[in-house]
Amino acid sequence: MKKTKRKIYRIAMVHPWHHKNVVETLDEIKEMKYEIVGFFPRLEEKEKLKYLCKEAVKRNLKVYVYTGFMKYQEAYLSTHPEQTMVLINTRENNSSTSIMWGCPFNPEFKQRYFSFLKEIAEYPGILAIGVNDEAFLGYDRKIGCYCHVCKADFKKEFGQDMPEVPDWNNPLWTKFLSWRFKRWNDVHGEMKKIIHSINPDIRVVFMTSPHCGFAGESSWVTGIELAGMAEKLDGIESDPYYTFHDLALVFHPHEVYLSEWCRFLAGIMPEGKQAEIIVQAFSHPVFRRPLGKEDGYWSAVIPVASGVNWVAPFTYYLQKISPAFETYHRCMGFDRYFSQCTPLKYTGIIHGFNSEVYRFPYPTQGDESYVVSRALACAESLRHMGLPYSYISDNYLDGKIEQYKVAVLPDINFIDNKQMQSIIKYYKNQGNIVVCGEIGFYNSGSNQLDRQILAELCGVEINEEIGEEKSFSLEKNIEVCDDVIKNIQKIIDRKASLCDQEVMMPQFSLKYTRKIKIIEDSQVIARFTDGNPAIVVREKKDGKGNMVYFAGMPSRISSKPQYKTFVRNLSHILFAQLVEWTAGKKPEIYISDWTENIPMEGQRPLDQRFMPSFEFFPLTGEKSAICVISSYFKEPTSFKIFLKKRNTALKSVKELISKKKIEWEQEENRYIINVDIGFDDALKIFVFRFE
Ligand SMILES: [Zn+2]
Repeated sequence: MKKTKRKIYRIAMVHPWHHKNVVETLDEIKEMKYEIVGFFPRLEEKEKLKYLCKEAVKRNLKVYVYTGFMKYQEAYLSTHPEQTMVLINTRENNSSTSIMWGCPFNPEFKQRYFSFLKEIAEYPGILAIGVNDEAFLGYDRKIGCYCHVCKADFKKEFGQDMPEVPDWNNPLWTKFLSWRFKRWNDVHGEMKKIIHSINPDIRVVFMTSPHCGFAGESSWVTGIELAGMAEKLDGIESDPYYTFHDLALVFHPHEVYLSEWCRFLAGIMPEGKQAEIIVQAFSHPVFRRPLGKEDGYWSAVIPVASGVNWVAPFTYYLQKISPAFETYHRCMGFDRYFSQCTPLKYTGIIHGFNSEVYRFPYPTQGDESYVVSRALACAESLRHMGLPYSYISDNYLDGKIEQYKVAVLPDINFIDNKQMQSIIKYYKNQGNIVVCGEIGFYNSGSNQLDRQILAELCGVEINEEIGEEKSFSLEKNIEVCDDVIKNIQKIIDRKASLCDQEVMMPQFSLKYTRKIKIIEDSQVIARFTDGNPAIVVREKKDGKGNMVYFAGMPSRISSKPQYKTFVRNLSHILFAQLVEWTAGKKPEIYISDWTENIPMEGQRPLDQRFMPSFEFFPLTGEKSAICVISSYFKEPTSFKIFLKKRNTALKSVKELISKKKIEWEQEENRYIINVDIGFDDALKIFVFRFE
């Protein structure tokens, strides 16, 4: 096994600093074993920052400076209105509107910030600078920037006026979108250059709002592509606050907003770049709930369990007035275990940035938006069934996709030649794939979408564009993946025995369905009620890996239009089981009976609101393995964790929160531990140590 080298960085963000004796706090955090202090100065607070950097250095602390550029300049912009960003409301006849944010491309506005960056880069002890806090170029279908500078720049480049009407059939419009992404990345690249011209050792990181890049607003609105942006910088940071942001509501349960962002950001970073997370450490009465002790456990452990190495609570002072403070700091002591392990790589879900921007631009947010209804639907199935996964950026497949046992392509509709070759290479070298909907190859030469790759990979042809949600049933007497079929049949039988009305009975269905034709040797394992194939599989053959094709997307809930009601969708369970079948083997660490023993599953087994409220994070290292279980809804349960045997013997198992030694059993190929979760167990961390 490859030796794991991992360093975890904890930052004490000392903010707000205006009414506090900050120097005393520096002594305090030093005492608490912090090595990095974070400051969040306004542009006019340079002198105070300089003084505090010196004080930090005296205490052998490194400094992380968080800065705002487009935001927080209201006073300045009120006297320089020509430097503000101008947005077009694409919903209402392109009426223009300005917000009190600066235009990031305005030379004077840029110069003001760049001088600030240049000056602070000279201060002692600076380890990292976070730039342009939570900024973007659009929200709520209002897009920018249409100021006089941007309009002139566009005209200079393309000889035409900037298009104002969204129209994906207009080449000038798609050129405008690409131009905007590139321009945004370039201006942040300039920030890094400016800082590095003074001190090339400083990390430069963009602080993105969770509104951008993943399951918030569509990327064509925000103008941000995070993986590409990371190429120009040293990393990307985000701050998913699950009791605050409405964006958390598309995640189930809402707390997994944190873990999903961690997996996503850590997963999509190009080689050598790092994800950073600012965790929620505060709440106001306008939030959904106050923070408790459990939030301290989750915010301290979940980022590092998901592969994030830089963690900063917002903020040290705010966390200190909450019950999360004590539990967070207790868990910082566990970093020495996590630094020996990295998240187990098993399923890689491809994040279709290009498909989101160029093929599925609407709706721009919510349950039916591209990322939520495609990538997140797959992720939710895997998470609820306890299969480990991460995300891969469609722009950086090569070298990444090979790290996973199985790759999931959730309606990846817009890929270029390089991306197509990466996927084909992976599959032809025995990589296993699960494809939903369509894979479209975009040929920029002919400006056409080509579906040949779908035929090549899956042996199917699409006859019709996206259709409505359709229910399906499994074929009888299937030989391929018969274990999966038998298993799911048991679940169906159990539900049926509890159900006296057809109205409530769970069913199988797929959303965003496609009508397909089978053109190559493969096995149909499920058909829609109209007889058309719903799921097609192919076993490893001729060097190619296993393949499963879904003619649509799985979802957690299924509609029964004849009763105008909703039921549990069994494709939510089937999807994860078929992913495991496709992978060819179970992960090195896995769980069983994951959902059976949750009391609500026993009490209301047909209720469509049911979902497992636990999360499973397996990690592996050279001489140890870790299994983190988070519990978000105070539900008791019990299950088993299995760990495959290695060449060296298992020496000990310990649970870190309770500090208890754990007994284990063993079989020929695996070790087994029993796990019981009670009402008050928000988190368990099992550490397995080998000889
Ligand atoms: Zn502008």
